[in-house]
Amino acid sequence: MDIAVIGSNMVDLVSYIDQMPKEGETLEALSFSIGCGGKGANQAVAAAKLGAKVMMLTKVGEDLFADNTIRNLNEYGVDTEFVSKVPGTCSGVAPIFVDKQSQNRILIIPGANKHLLPVDIDAAAEKLKKCSLFVLQMEIPLPTIYYAIEFGNKHGIPVILNPAPASRELDLNYVQKCEFFVPNETELEIITGMPVETEQQIEAAAMSLIQKGIKNVIVTMGKRGALWLTEEQVHHVEAYKVNAIDTTGAGDAFIGCFAHVYVKNRDVLMSIKMASAFAALSVTGRGTQTSYPDVATYEQFLQ
Ligand code: ADP
Repeated sequence: MDIAVIGSNMVDLVSYIDQMPKEGETLEALSFSIGCGGKGANQAVAAAKLGAKVMMLTKVGEDLFADNTIRNLNEYGVDTEFVSKVPGTCSGVAPIFVDKQSQNRILIIPGANKHLLPVDIDAAAEKLKKCSLFVLQMEIPLPTIYYAIEFGNKHGIPVILNPAPASRELDLNYVQKCEFFVPNETELEIITGMPVETEQQIEAAAMSLIQKGIKNVIVTMGKRGALWLTEEQVHHVEAYKVNAIDTTGAGDAFIGCFAHVYVKNRDVLMSIKMASAFAALSVTGRGTQTSYPDVATYEQFLQ
């Protein structure tokens, strides 16, 4: 295995509506679609689409979404040996309402994702030890994230932590133990409590994390590109100029591709550049996992 993603899966239940129903009112919606998502699953799929050998450690519920989620991961080539069902619990779901102005309202029900625990890491230990990189986000319990970081450190496996969704409770003592910390601007603002309007402010906020002992901070900034800071240097990588249609899941595309390229060559700058290209392509199509390009499309874009 190249990469272990220890994280979440969700099922997006998207209703396209004219308007939100008022209290007590029943309205007919225009259409409906189901999509596989969750930050962990998205990142696993992004890396697997590029050819990485990816295993996922996640939990699904005991409902009709569970098998569909596992099948979807398998179809993209993600190893699901350690994806298990939690009896009596629902899978993670996200009912999303999108109106005609493309404004959305989203509810997240974490369901089984809340049940991914340190014991699950122990149960998968033999396989996890053989991985070259761990990829973590924050849609699972914090103690599990901390345990995974410790496990990675103990076995010499570098860890990428994507603090999404951001929480002020995140203990930076654990973040110091990660090789890469990859927030977007909003997450950086929440974690540091510093303003992130301008690039100078973003750089100052990221630098405050470096000063707290975090090794590599990579801030993704949408169409403004990405900023990579270490104690020695600051590097700005421009975003590719594309016609953006739907930017959902761009951050997950970036991280999945970054993980794949980094495992292959350990060159951080090259990995950020390659991830920027993959993420840029992803915003040119609708959806999340479905908008991630396959290897052929990606390689053509790079030429
Ligand atoms: P998130 O989805 O977490 O908010 P970002 O919006 O920062 O993440 O996007 C992640 C990366 O995707 C960016 O660093 C950039 O490389 C790429 N990206 C995002 N939006 C665009 C865009 N409109 N044009 C080109 N690249 C983009």
